[in-house]
Amino acid sequence: MICAQRVFRCFRALERLGDRITGAAGPYFVALAIILTSTGTVCFFDVIAPGLNYRLVTLPICILIALNLHMHYYYVCTVRPGFVEEPPKLQGHGLLWAKRRAKRRGGDGGVLTAPVRVNGARVTVAEIMKCRKCGQQRPERAHHCRICNRCVLKYDHHCPVRINQCVGLHNERHFVLFLVYLAISTLCYSVLGWPFLLESLGVTYSLEWPYHVPEVAFAMIYILAVVLCIAVGIMGGYHIWEVANGETSVEAQDHEVYRNRAKERSESTIPNSVNDRKRKNLELFFNIGDGGYPWYTLILPLRVMPYTDGHSWARRDGYDRHAGVRVGDELTDEEEG
Ligand SMILES: [Zn+2]
Ligand SMILES: [Zn+2]
Repeated sequence: MICAQRVFRCFRALERLGDRITGAAGPYFVALAIILTSTGTVCFFDVIAPGLNYRLVTLPICILIALNLHMHYYYVCTVRPGFVEEPPKLQGHGLLWAKRRAKRRGGDGGVLTAPVRVNGARVTVAEIMKCRKCGQQRPERAHHCRICNRCVLKYDHHCPVRINQCVGLHNERHFVLFLVYLAISTLCYSVLGWPFLLESLGVTYSLEWPYHVPEVAFAMIYILAVVLCIAVGIMGGYHIWEVANGETSVEAQDHEVYRNRAKERSESTIPNSVNDRKRKNLELFFNIGDGGYPWYTLILPLRVMPYTDGHSWARRDGYDRHAGVRVGDELTDEEEG
């Protein structure tokens, strides 16, 4: 038993060391990501874009995709995820903020005291719990981040490699859109860049390489684009599936554990009290639809507010909290890692 505890403690120490190293290396990863995405964009518009068919239509689409990619990356790195102790954020003004269709009652901004309907979903006040690590009172769905050492609203995960901060309530939309646009851009690069790759490698006959970027840079970015397209495509697809289920990455893991425990006890369980309609969950996540923002906010690189301030959540009809999870079953931040 003592031995098991020692091993456990050793693993914890190693994990913390890993956190510290990746935390310290974060800014370098971000710099590398900026260099690579910018180089990729330059390669695309220098080599591939001039040869596109129907350029009057295809070129603006490519520019829009590139703009979305870079702006959502900028937002996901700079928009804070929303820490529990911070005052509620308000809709900003200026060119980069999307205009909302109509003012919605409750749900966003202001403290909600009674259930309201937001875009057809019932939204009720979140349960308040105490964080075991920092002792702070926090609303349901907030979690403690080990690296930031603070409680984050609707915590999804801490991303040291690409964005060097937490993904939470206020930047999760930009994170998912960044993944989507990265997958689209790398797919375009891989498919449309194939003939140019052959040319850069000297496979097809050509007298010279008439572009500004060197052949080797184009070929290296091409290989990276293919790898990223597969990896980000899978990751983005997985995230969208979680969003459609109304779960964050942490919750998806927790709910799996709850479901298995219930199965062992031969009980039926509905561990997720969050709204169960997939399309509605997607609309709420991107905050489009009734009372939210127009659909075109998905294709323009604009900032929008989430549908909630993190202190109330859209629920499955008839449920105000998770069902089927017994007292003592709930996972804590310690176990969730
Ligand atoms: Zn905490
Ligand atoms: Zn964090």
